[in-house]
Amino acid sequence: MPRPKILGETKRMPEERAPPPEGSLGPHDWLSRDSRTAYDEVLSSGRHFDLYISRHAEGMMRSHATKEAPRRLEVMGFMLGDVRSWQGSVYTTVRDVVTTDLKSTPSKVRFDREALPKLFGDLDGSGFDYIIVGWYHSHPGHTCFLSRTDLETQRTMFDQPYHTALVIDPLNEDVKTFKLSNQGYDEVPFSLTDALAPARPVRKRTRRLRVREV
Ligand SMILES: [Zn+2]
Repeated sequence: MPRPKILGETKRMPEERAPPPEGSLGPHDWLSRDSRTAYDEVLSSGRHFDLYISRHAEGMMRSHATKEAPRRLEVMGFMLGDVRSWQGSVYTTVRDVVTTDLKSTPSKVRFDREALPKLFGDLDGSGFDYIIVGWYHSHPGHTCFLSRTDLETQRTMFDQPYHTALVIDPLNEDVKTFKLSNQGYDEVPFSLTDALAPARPVRKRTRRLRVREV
């Protein structure tokens, strides 16, 4: 995938904010037995998760992957959200996802080169303050891991500590999230939550935040 050129960015400290409350959390239906065990361990430890994904964003990713599954085509997109801090450690939220036209085959996917300017135009025009916190893509029928190419993408485009890769297999009904590690990459447990409103334009978001967010 061609590396987008960053024309401007703002660096800011993660805002101090409590993670989504336990009552709003739930495991993804497609977690493997091992991933579910890791989920339960985080929950019972009293620690917060590294990653919270809104049910809205999860639904978008799942339906995107499922739509192309019969033709065994891979899909991909960016995950948008925030990086927060709570009691000395950092966590990430995914509120929304964006994608664009794709050049896709059963084992490879990349953004259509001509479509990228449209994608970034959409992001700029959306009016919300977002951080690209990672990317998602599907592996229809071949389970969830990072291929050599995926790892290269992660290392060149998503090398910050908060950057996550979500891989979803809509045929085996499996989903995993990964981060870079010294050895290569590690699976990281995540939770779904009802407590994050989608990242929509600021006016609308403010209205929804008052109702939905803690
Ligand atoms: Zn892949």
